[in-house]
Amino acid sequence: MQTWSERDLKYIWHPCSQMKDYETLPPMVIDHGRGIYLFDTDGNKYIDVISSWWCNLLGHCNPVINAAIKKQVDELEHVIFANFSNKRAIELCEELIKVIPKGLCKFNFSDNGSAAVECALKMSFQYHYQTGNPQKKRFVALTDAYHGETIGALSVGGVDLYSEIYKPMLMDILRIKAPDCYRCPYGQCRDNCKCECFEQAEKVFEEYGNEICSIIIEPLLQGSAGMKIYPPLYIKKLRELCDEYNVILIADEIATGYGRTGKMFAFDHAGVSPDIMCLSKGLTGGYMPMSITVTSQKIYDAFYADYNTGKAFMHSHTYSGNPLACSAALAVLEILKDGSVLQRAQENAVYFNNMIKDKFLNMPNVGEVRSIGLINAIELVKDKNTKESFDSKLRVGYQVYKKALKKGVILRPLGDVIYFNPPLIIEREDMNFVTDVAQECISEVLKG
Ligand SMILES: *Cc1c(COP(=O)(O)O)cnc(C)c1O
Repeated sequence: MQTWSERDLKYIWHPCSQMKDYETLPPMVIDHGRGIYLFDTDGNKYIDVISSWWCNLLGHCNPVINAAIKKQVDELEHVIFANFSNKRAIELCEELIKVIPKGLCKFNFSDNGSAAVECALKMSFQYHYQTGNPQKKRFVALTDAYHGETIGALSVGGVDLYSEIYKPMLMDILRIKAPDCYRCPYGQCRDNCKCECFEQAEKVFEEYGNEICSIIIEPLLQGSAGMKIYPPLYIKKLRELCDEYNVILIADEIATGYGRTGKMFAFDHAGVSPDIMCLSKGLTGGYMPMSITVTSQKIYDAFYADYNTGKAFMHSHTYSGNPLACSAALAVLEILKDGSVLQRAQENAVYFNNMIKDKFLNMPNVGEVRSIGLINAIELVKDKNTKESFDSKLRVGYQVYKKALKKGVILRPLGDVIYFNPPLIIEREDMNFVTDVAQECISEVLKG
C-alpha cells in the first residue's frame, strides 16, 4: 500500500519548494495538532516552533477558536460582501478598532496577505489620483523587503530568491537601502543608534518626493530577509518624512502584528500610526485565510462621492468578510482581551532570549543572536570576525532543518538564519527542548 507521502507526491506541487528535494525529504503528512505540537501519520511528534509559517498564534486545535467556528458554521458559512454584510464581520471591526493604532478606522477585507498588500498599493495610488496629485505614481520599498508573491506585492519585495526571475514583469520601484543592524555600515548598534541609516530614505524622498504615492515597510522586523530587526526610531522618522512629502505610509504588519514583537502591533513600539495597515497571518490565529487592509477616514473620504464621479474603490475578493474567518478572528481577540496571554508571552520572551544568548552566542559560527518578542534568530556565518556568510550552495540552514526534524523540532531556517517564531503560548520546558535540539543540530552540521 502507498504511504500518505507517496500519495501526496503523486499530485501535489508544494509551495516555495524544489520538488526534487522531496526525494530525500518526503513531506511530513500531519494527522492532527494540539497546542504547539503536530503529529504526523507515522506517529511522530513535532514542536511547531515556526507557528506553521508564522500564522498559528494560540496553538493548534485551540478549544475557544474551534468552538467559535463550529457555532458559526451552523449559522452562516459565507455571503457576498458587496451590498450585503454579516454580523461577525461587523463585530470584528468593532473589536479591532479598540486595539489597532489610533486613526485607523476603515476596514477592507481580503483573503490572504499578498492580496491585502495589493489592496493597500492600489488604494494609495488612487488616493493621490483623486486628491489632485496624479503625478504621485511611484512606490517605495526597502531592500530585502517581503510583502507577498503576487505581481504587485513581489514588485515591492526585495528578496531576489523570490523575484529575480520575474523582474521583467514587475513594476519599477524606488528602493531604499534597509537598516542592516548586524553589518551596520555606520558602525552603530541597534540598541542605541540614532538611525544614521535613515539618510538613505531622506535621499530618495528629496529626489523623488513629488512622484511618490506610498512607501511600504515591514515595521521593526524584516521577516523573510532573515528576521532582520531594526529600531522603532526608524519608524518615527519615517512617519515625519511621509508627512512632509505627502506620502502614504503602509505598515505591512502581516508578520509583526498580534503580539509577535511583544506589543500588539510593531507600530505600537514607535507610538505613531501608519496611514494603511495590512493584517493577516495571526488575524485568525492561523485558522482561516483572511486579511484586512485598514485605513484612515482621510483616505476613505477621498473615494466617497457620487457614483458617476468614478471615485469608488472597485476592488473585490470573492471571500471578502467571510463569516467563518471572522468568527475565528473574533475568538482570537476574545482570548487576547484581558492581556494575560500577551503578558505571559512577554515574560517568557525575556527568559527565552536569555536562554538563547547563553546557549548560542559562544558557538563558533554564530554571528549574531537577535530577538524581538518571542522571535529569536541565530545568524550562522563562516567567519565571526569578518561576518562573512557561508556559501549559499552549502545549504547549511537546510541541513540543520533536516536534522532538527528527526529530533521533533520544526525550524525551517531562512538561508543560514535559524529562527524561532513559536505560538505565543509556548512554555519554558519546550523552549529548553527546542534550543537544545537546535544547538545539537548546528554543532553536528558544522562539524561536518
Ligand atoms: C506572509 C507575508 C505576506 C504574504 O502573505 P500571504 O498570505 O502569504 O500572501 C506579506 N507580508 C509579510 C510581511 C508576510 O510575512
